[in-house]
Amino acid sequence: MNDQQRWQAAMMNNYGTPQITLDRGEGAFVWDTDGNRYLDLLSGIAVNALGHAHPAIVAAVTEQIGKLSHTSNFYINQPSLALAERLLELSGVDGGGRVLFCNSGAEANETAFKISRRTGRTKVVATDGGFHGRTMGALALTGQPPKRTPFEPLVPGVTHIPFGDVAALEAAVDDETAAFFVEPIQGENGVVVPPAGYLQAAREITSAHGALLVLDEVQTGIGRLGTWFAFQQAGVVPDVFTLAKGLGGGLPLGACVAVGDTAALLEPGQHGTTFGGNPVSCAAALAVLDTIVSEGLLEHASTLGKEIATGIEALNHPLVSGVRGAGLLLGITLREAVSAKAAAAAQRAGYLINAVQPDVIRLAPPLVLDETDALRLVADFPTFLEP
Ligand code: PMP
Repeated sequence: MNDQQRWQAAMMNNYGTPQITLDRGEGAFVWDTDGNRYLDLLSGIAVNALGHAHPAIVAAVTEQIGKLSHTSNFYINQPSLALAERLLELSGVDGGGRVLFCNSGAEANETAFKISRRTGRTKVVATDGGFHGRTMGALALTGQPPKRTPFEPLVPGVTHIPFGDVAALEAAVDDETAAFFVEPIQGENGVVVPPAGYLQAAREITSAHGALLVLDEVQTGIGRLGTWFAFQQAGVVPDVFTLAKGLGGGLPLGACVAVGDTAALLEPGQHGTTFGGNPVSCAAALAVLDTIVSEGLLEHASTLGKEIATGIEALNHPLVSGVRGAGLLLGITLREAVSAKAAAAAQRAGYLINAVQPDVIRLAPPLVLDETDALRLVADFPTFLEP
């Protein structure tokens, strides 16, 4: 039996049968078990910020697992404490905050959802097309009907409104609203960027009604857009923001960060998870943050992202209508629904890209992607669209 047949026999088919088996990675490249090399423009969907097998992560994880790998929530461990302090410092929010660690983006959003209930209000507003995870609470926030309907009834109280529409937000949020959940850029929906001023308006509207502004930075956070967090580009301070993906540098780690007084809403005993804040994942995360600084990756993400976008646009390809996004989270929009075909052609040519929507290709490469490889992608891009 080959790997596909073994996969079909042994694994639940949640995304369809994958066509290649990955074996190892280094920097922005991965290799399959047949020895074929691919430029990884997906990095596990915005996960491997430092690429694969980065020496800083290997060293941090190796050292930590040889020292202390788990402690349970009853004791302090130094990496998680240092990481919480570091995230608060990087967020730059006045008045401080507090962090609760978990293991995924969905769990980080579940935490935020629970915090919102602790306001004493139960109404929540979220966005059409928004993606917040697959657990039942996170799914209730997710605004993608095909993912929701098979599992209804979901957690009640959530209303979905069009993304980027300030008037709809004004109409939806009132004095009974606990929170508005929104992604700064909708990743899974196809790298959809809201109009300028949207997050600022969201901040004003939620504040006016005493509702929490919860930003899901699972995909946009940890440097991907060229700043530590997307809210820093918008000049907005949320009440809660959630992180995962790039935070752990390849290890499972999520975080829910509550700002100011919001941080006191969860009381002891109300929430937790066994592996949340495990020292190995937190040591990896500290290495991620340190390396983003030492390798200048915020600036790099910002300049390289612009260069890729400009390069793709300059191709003037008849099938490409534009490039949207920021930093190294880019959506290449197509005039026809050919993204899956293009992704398959790219894979054959040694590039991993993502057909995030039938007519949108997503690029979310490791932040360490270098200019030469990025320009090679741009030059080869038209070949992915050949009939
Ligand atoms: N929020 C956003 C914005 C995401 O993109 C994702 C994952 N694609 C999640 C939450 C869920 O994260 P996880 O898969 O780690 O549960």
